[in-house]
Amino acid sequence: MMTSPDTEFIRILGAATNDTGAPLPKAPAKTLPEVLPILGLSDIVIFPGMVAPLLVDTPQSIRLIDDVVEGDRLLGLVLQRRPEVENPQAEDLWENGCAARVLKMLKFPDGTVRVLVEGLWRIRIKEYETQTPYLRAKIEVLKDIANDSVELTALARNAHRQFQEIIKLTPALSDQVKIAALNTEVPGNLTDLIAANLNLNLDERQNLLAINDVKERLLRLRPLMDRELEVLTLSSKIQNDVTSSMAKSQRDFFLREQIRAIQRELGETDPTVIEANNLREQIDQAQLPEEVKRVAFKELERLQQMSPAVAEYALTRNYLDWLINLPWHKATEDTLDLATATRVLDEQHFGLEKVKERLLEFIAVIKLKKNLKGPILCLVGPPGVGKTSLGKSVADALGRKFARISLGGLRDEAEIRGHRRTYVGALPGRIIQTLRRVESRNPVILLDEIDKVGSDFRGDPAAALLEVLDPHQNSAFTDHYLDVPFDLSQVLFITTANWLDPIHPALRDRLEVLSLPSYTASEKLQIARRHLVPRQLQEHGLLRNQVKLPDATLRRLILDYTHEAGLRQLEREIASLARKAARKIISRNGPNGPLVITDKSLVDYLGQPRFISETAEKITEFGIAMGLAWTPVGGEILFIEATRMPGTGKLMLTGSLGDVMKESAQTALSYLRSQAKLLKLDLTDFDKHDLHVHVPAGATPKDGPSAGATIVVALASLLTKRLVRSDVAMTGEISLRGRMLRVGGIKEKVLAAARSGLREVILPEQNRNDWLEVPTEVRHKLKVRFVRTISDLIQAALRPK
Ligand code: ADP
Repeated sequence: MMTSPDTEFIRILGAATNDTGAPLPKAPAKTLPEVLPILGLSDIVIFPGMVAPLLVDTPQSIRLIDDVVEGDRLLGLVLQRRPEVENPQAEDLWENGCAARVLKMLKFPDGTVRVLVEGLWRIRIKEYETQTPYLRAKIEVLKDIANDSVELTALARNAHRQFQEIIKLTPALSDQVKIAALNTEVPGNLTDLIAANLNLNLDERQNLLAINDVKERLLRLRPLMDRELEVLTLSSKIQNDVTSSMAKSQRDFFLREQIRAIQRELGETDPTVIEANNLREQIDQAQLPEEVKRVAFKELERLQQMSPAVAEYALTRNYLDWLINLPWHKATEDTLDLATATRVLDEQHFGLEKVKERLLEFIAVIKLKKNLKGPILCLVGPPGVGKTSLGKSVADALGRKFARISLGGLRDEAEIRGHRRTYVGALPGRIIQTLRRVESRNPVILLDEIDKVGSDFRGDPAAALLEVLDPHQNSAFTDHYLDVPFDLSQVLFITTANWLDPIHPALRDRLEVLSLPSYTASEKLQIARRHLVPRQLQEHGLLRNQVKLPDATLRRLILDYTHEAGLRQLEREIASLARKAARKIISRNGPNGPLVITDKSLVDYLGQPRFISETAEKITEFGIAMGLAWTPVGGEILFIEATRMPGTGKLMLTGSLGDVMKESAQTALSYLRSQAKLLKLDLTDFDKHDLHVHVPAGATPKDGPSAGATIVVALASLLTKRLVRSDVAMTGEISLRGRMLRVGGIKEKVLAAARSGLREVILPEQNRNDWLEVPTEVRHKLKVRFVRTISDLIQAALRPK
């Protein structure tokens, strides 16, 4: 068996060169002997005119070659039907082949032989004469059949043109082939040149070898060339697309590298080297902890090996920036002087005695223990009651930096702990960002609205918060971005919340709660006079004696223009007055006396009052009662309505009520039915009527048992046809046996009643102690009635007939 030495046969065409090896015969053979030795080829088809090297490795074939080279150097080359047969016999070979001449023979030390052969003519095997020592056969030469027709010329020209195109798109074809292609004019030779160099499989080649009609060969070649051209065009288009998209970034890259090289040549220091040196100096001076320093230097090393053109360079540079600029050791000195602390707290806040006292104790403990391991303070109360500003005061009292982080609506754990650096646009979490901003490792950080932290698929921020707040863990807090621990144990965390219920239980356990209740109207007045007005005047560039806001004006502001537990709206209204006053002062050109804003002139400044202090509307229908509710933003007045209509004895409830409230309604009704006689209820045709209880302001979901008292009164009013008093509000849980049970939130509820201008509240007897917590001022203003049973409640709440 003979194979070509390379898997892909070498395409050479034209005359063989006369270099070393066996000498060429003097003259090329013009005729062939009748009988030729036949060599089987396993993976190559030799065409007339084609020169190719062959590897000969079986003893039988080597013997054949030896004999051929000794003699006239002519032999027949025939493709095997099955390439894997080692010593092919007659039946293993195709009938058509190519007579060839050995141009050169080389023997190799491993016993193999390489020969260079040149194809001469197509032959057909007529009959095998011998099988041993190698095949010999009678052959017939198949001369090309070609008549000089126009059609043949046209076909040949076309083939010529197509082949030129193929050559253009195939850089791998050797120059010899290109030259040969230009110089081959005989159509028969052209087809063989093309067949030898086109990308064809063995069957296609063997088919072409078997045809000696030139026109037919040309016709067969045409679709094969079409196919090749199509493949080549497509792959060159793909290649172009890829190159053009790579070209721009590569161009930029090379240009940058060239700039660097030019700078080096000119003796200018490469800016990246200057940058690296700067960074090294900064790392040295930043007093980083050992571990951090190691990481920083490692990153710096990586940076130096990068080109500034790659995106990673900027990312690494940025990361180093963070490491260098964090306050690893920078801290403020605490002023742990209780007298000063007391003064600061008193100066900045009116009232709040209990809370201030607890804060001072807290500061005293820090002074004694010199560390912050202890409970975490949580200031709880409605919006605007001074939670944030108290936190700031604590920082002022201790002489520490202050920062506030709002946690409202926080859902992503990464907000606290940062994103890993592999993430696009990664940054450290808010804690680390805040520390960098305040440039101190021991600030007071107020974590605002801790009750509004949610959790979803992006992880549980509450767990991350716990790690931040837990004094046992937070000395080695690891932010995902930094990936090195930062000691948070010196940070004083204070949290705030509107209410405790939604806080994650594990977190709630660690909190020490300081409650801040709503303010009464007169407290608001004091705070406005002492704090809000002076501050707003100053912020608007006004002097104290330029604008006067008498108490009567402030009182009207509080009662008619705001309706809130805290002071936010009031502060906004005062700010708005200050703005308008500033404008008035600038534009007036009379004497420079103070501008007095009287309660009567408020309308000119702020428009009509938004709330009328007598909110409680007159109740003019049966089945309506006023309740007191507690919400996270303070107490509220709540109207409950009941009505009756033809039906089948059902109870309907509407107004986004929770299950507990629905049960209260059921309880109320059951109690009333059981006591119908005693209470003189009109239950005629009870089965033929439906009852409907509705709690307006339906958008806010309501729950809790404390509406029981109000529902029972509303129903009683409906069923007795007696009106409920317009100046009283009530709260309390009811039992099936007619008892009034204790409820929470009394202080906020009563304050809300006072805010709304009511005159009386009805509370369960069991809440008597809570009444004492209500500010005296409000207790003087409001009448209270404690009741033990529902029937007492109904008596107190309904107007006499
Ligand atoms: P919160 O954080 O509870 O929502 P803020 O701290 O923002 O409330 O308070 C709203 C405004 O009311 C602030 O300007 C604050 O200084 C002021 N304020 C609240 N309570 C007092 C108080 N007891 N004394 C003085 N100013 C107060």
